[in-house]
Amino acid sequence: MSIPREVKFVIKKLKENGFEAYIVGGCVRDFLLALRSENEGGRKVEPQDWDVATNAKPEEIGKIFLRSFINNKFGTVTVLTSSKNPRLKEIEITPYRIDEKYTDKRHPDKISWAKTIKEDLARRDFTINAMALMEIKNQKSKIKIIDPFSGQKDLKNKIIRAVGNPEERFSEDALRMMRAVRFATTLGFEIEKETSQAIKKNSFWLQAISKERIRDEFFKIIMADRATDGIELLRSLSLLKYIVPELEEGYGVSQNKHHIYECYEHAILSLKYAAKRNFNKYVRLAALFHDIGKPRVKRGEGPDATFYGHEILGAKITTQILNRLKFPKKEIEKIAKLVRYHLFYYNPGEVYEASVRRLVRQVGPENMEELLQVRMADRIGSGCPKAEPYKLRHLRYLIEKVSQDPISVKMLKVDGKIVMKILGIQPGPEIGDVLDILLSYVLENPKKNKKEFLEKEIEKLAKLAEKELSSLAQKAKKEREKIEIKRDEMTKRKYWVT
Ligand code: ATP
Ligand code: MG
Repeated sequence: MSIPREVKFVIKKLKENGFEAYIVGGCVRDFLLALRSENEGGRKVEPQDWDVATNAKPEEIGKIFLRSFINNKFGTVTVLTSSKNPRLKEIEITPYRIDEKYTDKRHPDKISWAKTIKEDLARRDFTINAMALMEIKNQKSKIKIIDPFSGQKDLKNKIIRAVGNPEERFSEDALRMMRAVRFATTLGFEIEKETSQAIKKNSFWLQAISKERIRDEFFKIIMADRATDGIELLRSLSLLKYIVPELEEGYGVSQNKHHIYECYEHAILSLKYAAKRNFNKYVRLAALFHDIGKPRVKRGEGPDATFYGHEILGAKITTQILNRLKFPKKEIEKIAKLVRYHLFYYNPGEVYEASVRRLVRQVGPENMEELLQVRMADRIGSGCPKAEPYKLRHLRYLIEKVSQDPISVKMLKVDGKIVMKILGIQPGPEIGDVLDILLSYVLENPKKNKKEFLEKEIEKLAKLAEKELSSLAQKAKKEREKIEIKRDEMTKRKYWVT
């Protein structure tokens, strides 16, 4: 584990110009975690992005780095590097600052430049995020850590602790309450008692925060390996009701004789499986929300309770939630569809191609794999030991089959009416015979599927006797069946359904 060349360069330049410069924030946390993990032979986690803090002012930083721009009201200067690594393409340099007085629970009313790194660290959210790191010159791989709030100790003990008085810190920026949950979830840490009590007491402050900022934290929680623990932590700290109250409606709502888990439990267990399998964001959100309509449509109590129409209402509620959280429209549509159709019935031998074709048309071929994954998450989240691999494999095979162009006379550029007109006859078996023969030409060479060509062929066939025509058609049909069987066998083999 080492500090990247680009970061070292930025720090060196600042120092050459007489300023202080430290690596700060999340990357110090991740760097120290990576060091430990490396020493213990664990998994390597690279810092997401590298931030540098300095006592230089924005204009002074701008003068030192030609390829740079000031990018926000906090005076952060982004320096462009020539690195190919996306994490190192831009390095952010932030002047030491103090955030003064917060009245809206979101942003400081005013900021001012600070003189020392310690003052800068004091405005940061958690002890593990409030450390600065510097390499000591001429001492290879020697580092110095500025750690006024004992972040290293908390890092070692896996603790999220607010810097200073937690209640005050959350009143400055209420999003920090969600950030505490997010770091606890992604890092697998505990939130220290005073910090978590302050969250529980003041969770309603979250209402002051923009939906976009809430969405970004919520999303990071959903994408974590321990996503389920994150949702449960949000709930137990009373934050969930300000993010997705609809999910909490299912808390303590029992289902019926087919289910051992309550609605809320089932939702988070489904998410747990989706996270375990590392399914994508659509599947994770759909798994979490697939039964969200249940509490509102529940009729009756006990083993015979029903939930008719919950998937339709669920899709509606999902759309409302994701709209409120400002998710992109396309993503909302996709996730709502996964919720809407998660109940699809499938049993090999009982459900035929036509209904699978209909399902594919409704859900969209591009969403089918994710729909199957939601179904697996649903089953495992219900406590079923298996995700029905055989049935789903069979369905997957049928989906592929119906998604291909139907190899039938329907795809010809001429139809029965044209045949009747050219042949000058009434409906009868000859029409089908002619179309079958034409299809055999087109199957052999798709380029022949042109109206003019086929019409000419019809005229030729018109000259044949009835018997000849029929035997030609029989031959064509047999050829076609052979091709279809072969294709079927190949698709089946691909999915091991035999
Ligand atoms: P990651 O980049 O993995 O999301 P991070 O800790 O780097 O985590 P950033 O949002 O990149 O988080 O912020 C960088 C640093 O800025 C943090 O480590 C923290 O010191 C400080 N910081 C960020 N947001 C806040 C906040 N809302 N309140 C106080 N300090 C914050
Ligand atoms: Mg960061």
